[in-house]
Amino acid sequence: MTDCLFCRIVAGEIPATVVHETDDTLAFRDIDPKAPTHVLVIPRAHHTDVAALAAADPALAGRVLAACAAVAEQEGLAGDGYRVIFNTGRFSGQEVFHVHGHVLGGRPLGRMLAA
Ligand code: 5GP
Ligand code: ZN
Repeated sequence: MTDCLFCRIVAGEIPATVVHETDDTLAFRDIDPKAPTHVLVIPRAHHTDVAALAAADPALAGRVLAACAAVAEQEGLAGDGYRVIFNTGRFSGQEVFHVHGHVLGGRPLGRMLAA
């Protein structure tokens, strides 16, 4: 039992719409999509954010990035392009402290940041 939401999704305790999985990564649709395609890509292992993941297991960080690219390809985003966001820490607005890449696409995404 864990109080981490995404560990509970990995464990199958909370349902999610899984679109891609490997031995050590999982990708599922965001419950509140901010673009026509919005998928979250996570390592199955718990790491708080991308900095912690990169420090603890850089090879796994690479596999998470490869999974982001595979999701984008599978979702038909690779041709027109897409954005991958890893919110990290307080100023980013990170809400779930299990590292996740947001894969966003399906329309022009505008400026990288609000002015
Ligand atoms: P963050 O703000 O931490 O970068 O992103 C957390 C994301 O998780 C948000 O986009 C939010 O919509 C999504 N989210 C929160 N709870 C759930 C849930 O129970 N299921 C799914 N699939 N996504 C969730
Ligand atoms: Zn977790």
